Amino acid sequence: MARYTGPVCRICRREGLKLYLKGDRCYSDKCGIGRRNYAPGQHGQNNKKLTNHGIQLREKQKVRKYYGVLEGQFHEYFNMAEKMSGKAGDNLLKLLELRFDNVIYRLGFASSRPEARQLVVHGHFTVNGKKADIPSMVLSAGDVIEIKEKSQSSAKFKELIENHKKTAPQWLQVDPDNFTGRVIAEPAKEDIEIPIEEHLIVEWYSK
Ligand code: SF4
Repeated sequence: MARYTGPVCRICRREGLKLYLKGDRCYSDKCGIGRRNYAPGQHGQNNKKLTNHGIQLREKQKVRKYYGVLEGQFHEYFNMAEKMSGKAGDNLLKLLELRFDNVIYRLGFASSRPEARQLVVHGHFTVNGKKADIPSMVLSAGDVIEIKEKSQSSAKFKELIENHKKTAPQWLQVDPDNFTGRVIAEPAKEDIEIPIEEHLIVEWYSK
């Protein structure tokens, strides 16, 4: 399945929730969902009642789109989560939160997850001193992320660091002056910016 390239505010409107896909705009009064808080399309304003199946599907899609993960890869994360010890739903959220592109965003080294993905692919970061350009890589506690020296002086990162005001969640430590961040613990559900009912995703895949 190809990556969606249309207007991203439609995704938030479809899910009825801010998914923060557009950087600074999401925090301004230009936010699409603030202006039109109903699903896109001709029947968007019809309040159709969802079946259980539909509720589970929407929850899965919401989380998948929030993290910018394609269907096949999302299913793989679920399979991995099921094999880990503990609850599959908790493990799934942990894996998604520890994705490299998400960590870059949560550290404040990118203004949105889509931008973080792009910066990672373009090779602007290292992890534990080694080249790292795979957005889906899952990090672990103890990993150290650094903006590459030659990228530090670019206009993009200068602006990001000068205006760095994002507070990192408790499981991350950020040192914008030294262009570094560190994973200091595993993320917990409470650290996620949107409400997620992960049990619905487990039910969806457990049919
Ligand atoms: Fe979603 Fe951001 Fe668009 Fe608002 S501005 S609808 S949060 S992508």
